[in-house]
Amino acid sequence: MLGLMQDRPLLISQIIDFAATYYGDVEIVSRTIEGPIHRYTYRDAQVRAKKLAEALRSLGIRLGDRVGTVAWNGYRHFELYYGVSGIGAVLHTLNPRLAPDHVAYIANHAEDQVIFVDLNLLPVVENVIGQLKTVRHVVVMTDRAHMPAQSKIANLLCYEELLADKPGTLEWPEFDERTASSLCYTSGTTGNPKGVLYAHRSTLLHSMMMCSGPVLPLSPANTILPVVPMFHANAWGLVYAGPMCGCKLVFPGFRLDGESVYELLDKEDVDISAGVPTVWLGLLNYCEQNNKKLSKMKRTLIGGSAVPLAMIERFWRNHEVEVAQGWGMTEMSPVGTFTRFNRGERSLPDDQRFAIIAKQGRPVFGVEMKIVDDEGKELPRDGKASGNLVVRGPWIVSGYMKGEGTGAFMPGGWFHTGDVSKLEPDGSMVITDRSKDVIKSGGEWISTIDLENAAMSHPAVAEAAVIGVKHPKWDERPLLIVQLKPGANAGKAELLDFIQDKVAKWWLPDDVAFVDAIPHGATGKVLKTELRRTFKDYTLPTA
Ligand code: ADP
Repeated sequence: MLGLMQDRPLLISQIIDFAATYYGDVEIVSRTIEGPIHRYTYRDAQVRAKKLAEALRSLGIRLGDRVGTVAWNGYRHFELYYGVSGIGAVLHTLNPRLAPDHVAYIANHAEDQVIFVDLNLLPVVENVIGQLKTVRHVVVMTDRAHMPAQSKIANLLCYEELLADKPGTLEWPEFDERTASSLCYTSGTTGNPKGVLYAHRSTLLHSMMMCSGPVLPLSPANTILPVVPMFHANAWGLVYAGPMCGCKLVFPGFRLDGESVYELLDKEDVDISAGVPTVWLGLLNYCEQNNKKLSKMKRTLIGGSAVPLAMIERFWRNHEVEVAQGWGMTEMSPVGTFTRFNRGERSLPDDQRFAIIAKQGRPVFGVEMKIVDDEGKELPRDGKASGNLVVRGPWIVSGYMKGEGTGAFMPGGWFHTGDVSKLEPDGSMVITDRSKDVIKSGGEWISTIDLENAAMSHPAVAEAAVIGVKHPKWDERPLLIVQLKPGANAGKAELLDFIQDKVAKWWLPDDVAFVDAIPHGATGKVLKTELRRTFKDYTLPTA
């Protein structure tokens, strides 16, 4: 026999053990639902995660059982991340912003046995309790003093009481690294939500990638505030990568408005944050209106939707914060590409650097990608051809929960992302659209993302979205929908004039509609489905 390396399994429990042993004094700071700021260390978190694991076992939870959470980012949710997966049960994070029918559908589909819920999200579970078929216990994530006096749910359990009498001495069990660790449903903007099941192995590989030099990189000198929710693709892996690297963690709870986020960033010396563009719009506006500067922040990771160029500029020019754009999907754990500067690029003039950040990034090591036409034939990586983006890698889904959505999986292990993109010769990937948002005008594609980007660089525009509207001659033409900043003024002609030289001439929207608020879905992305419904019968002036 030739000698080989040991085949030790990669398990999530190893992360919390490592953090408690080597970064035991490093803090986790949480804004609680009950009010005060809570602080403790990785050492404390490890003991409490073990107590939780002991409590789960006493509730009858075993390897493979699903445990649901309906919770914001906070220390008890963090304990669930480790306590549930640590004993080989599956942490199922539910999105509390989903419609009640979806919440019930997902909990039933996942066959959740127990649901842990934050105090102020209890109504989300109460609303659907009559429809839940497999849930045996509902645990409120608070102490006895804050437990609700009454509830539609009989026999509510109290989190702190469950933990109180447990020793916290459990030894994490060892099992195959290909065991399921957690479960997250895609938000289901079309059809029923589909379940994506992560494994211990895929989670650890993805987390190690996140820590690495070309990506974030992370070290004990960093303090991370994930604004991205722990119910959205594992907070992009930061809840694992942070402890691996000894980073201080700051959890914002449910207060995600500009002022609350600013206060935590400032007081807790946060230098790295992460979230979808919508959240950052709120923060940037708050800073501008109140003359505040993000003095400690160095980098922010933005993804989930295309990052407008104007946002990259505002972060750098007003706050010296560098934006890193990430692209990915729930199905990809979620990160697939990341802003990565090649040799010499970091010292480029601002505008050229911003242009690199405005692309979706370059693939991280471990993720392969290519673009294909509708017949599955590979298209060139020339920055001109655009096609269906397909990906594969060790932290990319190989099938949806219970065998649904098989159409997304191609021979050779390639997964259809549903995004339309270009691959550039220098390795960058540029998304032009989600395939369902694509506008086809006279047989040619128009990129809604490029148009939105152009519109959002106008100083009066708070947010913009572009959808296709029926047109008798061209089949579809773009309609620009704009939400202006409070007190700002800009007319149709001014906006179109502004966009004109930023995009191809025939892409120029045929009309502009003004709305009070652009609608957002459960993960903070623009809800184009709703906009399409609202403007279904819209007649363009050119029609
Ligand atoms: P959902 O939006 O359905 O809740 P995901 O969060 O998994 O689910 O969304 C993944 C999709 O979000 C991608 O397929 C892509 O369309 C879009 N997306 C993510 N990051 C970016 C980005 N940086 N730029 C453009 N689109 C992005």
